[in-house]
Amino acid sequence: MIQPITVNDQQIYTDFDQLGARAEVAFQEVRTTAYLAQRLDELGVSYQRFPQMTGLIATLNPGQPVTIGLRTDIDALKQVYQGKTQVLHSCGHNAHMAIVLAVVTYFAAHPDDLPGTLKVIFQPAEETVTGAEKVIQSGLLGPLDVLYGLHVCPDSEVGDHQAEAILPDIATRTYWVTITGKTAHAGRPWLGANVIDAFSTLNERFKQIQLATDSPYSVTTTMFQAGESSNIVPDKGTFAVDLRARTNDLMDQLQDQAFQAIRAVSTGDIQVTLDGNDLSPAAIPDDQAIATMGQAITAVLGADGLVAPVPTQGGDDFHFYAYDGLAKRSTMLGLGCGLTPGLHVPGMTFDPDYTGLSLGSKSGN
Ligand SMILES: [Zn+2]
Repeated sequence: MIQPITVNDQQIYTDFDQLGARAEVAFQEVRTTAYLAQRLDELGVSYQRFPQMTGLIATLNPGQPVTIGLRTDIDALKQVYQGKTQVLHSCGHNAHMAIVLAVVTYFAAHPDDLPGTLKVIFQPAEETVTGAEKVIQSGLLGPLDVLYGLHVCPDSEVGDHQAEAILPDIATRTYWVTITGKTAHAGRPWLGANVIDAFSTLNERFKQIQLATDSPYSVTTTMFQAGESSNIVPDKGTFAVDLRARTNDLMDQLQDQAFQAIRAVSTGDIQVTLDGNDLSPAAIPDDQAIATMGQAITAVLGADGLVAPVPTQGGDDFHFYAYDGLAKRSTMLGLGCGLTPGLHVPGMTFDPDYTGLSLGSKSGN
C-alpha cells in the first residue's frame, strides 16, 4: 500500500521563491547550493558537498541494506527576457528542488517511514547534460537500488493534475568533427582534396542511414565551416552532427552507421577526426520502478491522474545514473501542472496552487 505524505505547502512556496531568486547557470550554482545546505542544516540532515563543484548529496537513514536515490537538478538558464539578459528557472528546476526539500523534510521527521537509506542528489548542470557524469565520477554517491527523479512537463504533453510514471526521454549525441584535405589552386582542383566535396559526400551518406525501426530517429548536420578564399581549394573544415534515437540500442546502431559513413569518406588525402562529443542516454524503462511510481501517482492524483508516457524529443542526464550502472532501476516522474507556454521559454508559468506534489509517497511494503 502506498499512502501520500503530507507536506508544508507554505514552505514549498518559500523554497520555490527563494531558489527562483537565486537562479544560476550550470556549475555556478553557488548561492543555490548555499541555500540548500542551510535548509538541510535547519532540518538536521547530513550532507556532503562535492569537492570540486556545486551541488551536494544528502543522506537520510544511513547504513540500511536498501538504498533509494532521489535526484533533483539545480541549474537555470541564461536568457534574454523583457529586454534584459537574465538567469531564469525557465526549466522549473526550482520547483523540483522545492518538492525534493519537502520530501527530505518529511523523512527527516519520520525516518521510520523510510524503507531504506535515502540519498538525495542535488545535481548541478543538467542543462549542459554534464552534471550527472560529474556526480558519478565524484565517487560520493555509491550504488543505488532504485533512483527516482522528476520533471515538470509542458501542458501540451501532460495536463494539470496528471502525471506519467516515466519520462521517455530520447538518446542524443553530438559529434564535433574536423575534416582535412589538400589545398590547391581553384583552377587545378584535381591537384588537391577539397574538404567541401568530401563533406557533401559524407552528408549525403548521413541522409541515407536507415535503421530497422518504426520509431523516429535523425542524423542532422547542424554546423559546417570551411574555406577562407574564393580561389583556393579548402583543406580544412569543421562540422557538428546531431544524432537522436528513442532507445540506447538504436542510438548505438545509428552511431555505428554514422562512423561507417565517416570511414568511407576518409580516403587518400581526406581525413576525418572526431574532436569531441556530448551524449545523453535515453530513459531505460524499468517495470518495477515504473509500477511503484504509477502507484504513487494514483495514490495522490487518483486513477485518472496516471497517464501513459507521452513521447518527447527532450533529453535529461538523469539517465546516466542507470546507463552507467550506478542505479539498478530508475524512473522519472513527469509532472503535469498547467505549464505554459513551454520549458526553456522565459516567462514560463505553471499552476501555483498545484499541490499534488508528493513524489515521496510512503511505501508500506
Ligand atoms: Zn530541465
